Amino acid sequence: MIVSIRDVSARCARCGETDFRQQDSGALRLATVMRCVTCGRETTYRALLDSIGEEAMRRANEALAKLKKNSPRRRKARK
Ligand SMILES: [Zn+2]
Repeated sequence: MIVSIRDVSARCARCGETDFRQQDSGALRLATVMRCVTCGRETTYRALLDSIGEEAMRRANEALAKLKKNSPRRRKARK
């Protein structure tokens, strides 16, 4: 399964894979162990969500920096 929020997908820290398999067949919880389908690295659902948060933050900062760089000076700030 791909763990994603909006357009940000959690990636395996080792190989970058976005597809993970749930270790047990129970309900998905934060502590559920997830295994990368490519390299077998184990992580938890919580860690995957955390990494999505970090990636989303990184993208937001990038977008902000881009906005600042590209903002035309002649245009007055809108309220
Ligand atoms: Zn992996």
